[in-house]
Amino acid sequence: MNPPRKLHIKSYGCQMNVYDAQRMVDTLAPEGFVETASVDDADLVILNTCHIREKASEKVYSELGRLRAVKDEAARHGRTMNIAVAGCVAQAEGEEIVRRAPVVDVVVGPQSYHHLPQLLAHAKRDGRALETEFPVEDKFVFLPPPKPEAIRARGISSFVTVQEGCDKFCTFCVVPYTRGAEVSRPVTKIIDDVERLADNGVREITLIGQNVNAYHGEGPDGRTWSLGALLYRLAEIPGIVRLRYSTSHPRDVEDTLIAAHRDVPALMPFVHLPVQSGSDRVLAAMNRKHTVSDYRRVIDRFRAVRQDIAFSSDFIVGFPGETEEDFLATLALVTQIGYAGAYSFKYSPRPGTPAADMREMVSAVEMDERLVRLQELIDSQQSAFNAATIGNTVDVLFERLARNPGQIVGRTAYLQPAHVMSSPDIIGQVLPVRIESLERYSLLGELARAPDARPAQAAFSEITLSEITPSEMTPSEMTTGA
Ligand code: SF4
Repeated sequence: MNPPRKLHIKSYGCQMNVYDAQRMVDTLAPEGFVETASVDDADLVILNTCHIREKASEKVYSELGRLRAVKDEAARHGRTMNIAVAGCVAQAEGEEIVRRAPVVDVVVGPQSYHHLPQLLAHAKRDGRALETEFPVEDKFVFLPPPKPEAIRARGISSFVTVQEGCDKFCTFCVVPYTRGAEVSRPVTKIIDDVERLADNGVREITLIGQNVNAYHGEGPDGRTWSLGALLYRLAEIPGIVRLRYSTSHPRDVEDTLIAAHRDVPALMPFVHLPVQSGSDRVLAAMNRKHTVSDYRRVIDRFRAVRQDIAFSSDFIVGFPGETEEDFLATLALVTQIGYAGAYSFKYSPRPGTPAADMREMVSAVEMDERLVRLQELIDSQQSAFNAATIGNTVDVLFERLARNPGQIVGRTAYLQPAHVMSSPDIIGQVLPVRIESLERYSLLGELARAPDARPAQAAFSEITLSEITPSEMTPSEMTTGA
C-alpha cells in the first residue's frame, strides 16, 4: 500500500470557502491524501482564495512566491510538491495565474473542484491544468461524502451548502461573477447530508449560501421548497439540536421562514441580515433593491414572532458618493435596530464591478473617521448585549476543549463563546449555564445542571482545516454573501 500523500489547504475568506476546503479534503481522500498542518511536508498545497479587493490577487502571487521556495526545497530532497490555486481568485484570474506563476500546477474555480483528481492527473501529464468554466453538471452530485472519521474530527458543528451564487448584482460585489447564478440543491440531498452528519456526532448545522434565503430547491414532493420549509424538515432529524442559516438578503425573507422562527425550537433566534447602509440613496446606488423602511419591516416581522431574536449585519462605509448625511442615516438605523454584533468595513473597489467605475470617491480620511464612529457604536451595542447575559442562565452547546486547562467552550444561541470548568463529557450537549462574568467577548459561567450521562464526544481541541485566514474580508464575503 502506498503511504498517504499529504495535503495542506490554506483557505481565505467566507464560510463557503471553509466548507469548500473541507469538501476538497473529502474529494482527495479517496486518492490517498490526508491533511497536514505543515506546508513544508505537503505533497499538495491548495490556496483556496477569496477575491476580496484590488490587491487580493497580488497577495496570492506573493504567497505563491513563498511557496515556490518550499517547492524548490522539496525538489532538492527528491520530493514532488504540487500547488493548486482554487476559489474566487482562481475563477476571476485563471489565465493570468497560469501566465504569471509557473509554480502553479492546477487552477480550479469554485464550481469545479470536484474535478481536482482529474486535474492533478492532467497536470502530471501535461505540466499544467486549468478549469474555471462553470460546468454544466452539479459538482455536489460528484463530490464524495465525507468519511465518518473526517466528520467526527471536524467537530459538532457543521456547515452545509444549500445554495450557491447570486442574481442580485449589488454594484460592489463580485459574487455573481465568481460564483455564478443562483442555484439551489435538492431537498433530499441536503437531508442526506444532514443525516450523515448527525449520525456521526454533529449537533448543529448552519445552512450556507451566498444568498441562502433565496433557496428554492426541488422537494421530494416535486414542488419547490423554500428555506423555511427546509428548516422545518431538517429539525426532524434525530440528533440535530441547533439550526442556523447564513447569509440572508432582506428581500428574500418569506413568511415560511418567519413562521419557522416561531415554530422550530432548534432554529436559533440569531439572524445575520446585511443592510450595508442606512441611506436609501446609497442603497439605490448599491443596487440593493430594498429601502431602509423595507429592512425595518423585515426586522419587525422577525421580532413579532420571536421577542428574543437578535440580529447582526454588514455595513460598508464610504461607498462612492456617501455623504455625511447618508452616514448619519446609517448610524441612526444602527441605533434604532440595536445589533448583537456587526461587520463593518471601508468600501474598496473590486475590479469588474459597476461600483469600481464610480467616480465620487469618499476620501480615505473621511472613510477612516466614519468607520471608527460606526464601529464604536456597534461595539457599544455588542458589549451591552453581552453584559446583559451576566446573571442569567442560558443554553450553551458545548463544542471543544478550551485553551485553559479544564475548561470547555461552547456557544450560546447568539454565538457568544461561553466557558465552564467541566469534564469533556459535555461536548455535544446543550446545557444551561449560569453566566457569572464577561471577558472581552467570552462569557464565563457554571453549569446550572448536571450533564446527561452518555458517552463523550471526541474531545475536539482545534479546527482541523489546515489553515484558515479570515482576515481582510469585505462584509459580505466575511459572512458568505447577501
Ligand atoms: S452582496 Fe449579497 S445579494 Fe448582493 S450581489 Fe453580493 S451576494 Fe448577491
